[in-house]
Amino acid sequence: MRVIVGTLLLAALVVPGLESIATVVPHGAPAVVLSRDARDSMTAAFRHSNEHWDEQADLNTMERMLGTIRPTQREYLGCLQGRIGPRTIRIESWVPAADMKQLPLAVAGHCDSVPRLVGTWHTHPYRADLQNLPIKERRLSAQDLATFADSRLNVVLVMWDQDSVDAAVRDAEGAVVHPARVAVD
Ligand SMILES: [Zn+2]
Repeated sequence: MRVIVGTLLLAALVVPGLESIATVVPHGAPAVVLSRDARDSMTAAFRHSNEHWDEQADLNTMERMLGTIRPTQREYLGCLQGRIGPRTIRIESWVPAADMKQLPLAVAGHCDSVPRLVGTWHTHPYRADLQNLPIKERRLSAQDLATFADSRLNVVLVMWDQDSVDAAVRDAEGAVVHPARVAVD
């Protein structure tokens, strides 16, 4: 299965502060347990994909989105490996997605041949606003959730800052639950 996630073009329409519609996490939804090692290596990949985010102040919005003039902060896609328990989805490790196509606001790749695959994760690098301050996409986008809903995966994570993730899971009935609880252990 090819996974394509991202906020390409739609990101321009997102107004900071309007993102949150309160969601109650249902009792039956599994919690995500992320191993400390996996979390730390994800943070290292996030840092790398987020480098130079503030070095595009002289470019206009379209130039930044196309990413052809000075491509920086490309999104990154990884394949999550772990175990599915009755009440938890345990993430033990991850590997980079195969055939990764990294764009400034989207990423594609696949995880077909990854053993113990439970889901995917990707980064939301900072974007610079007009004052060159960071805009952080703190949540999985509508497209991220739609892609997850169409997959057979159990969990999707986005890392939007160092050590900071947003998660969605699939419950026992197959329904997408977002946001999901995440613990680091
Ligand atoms: Zn995303």
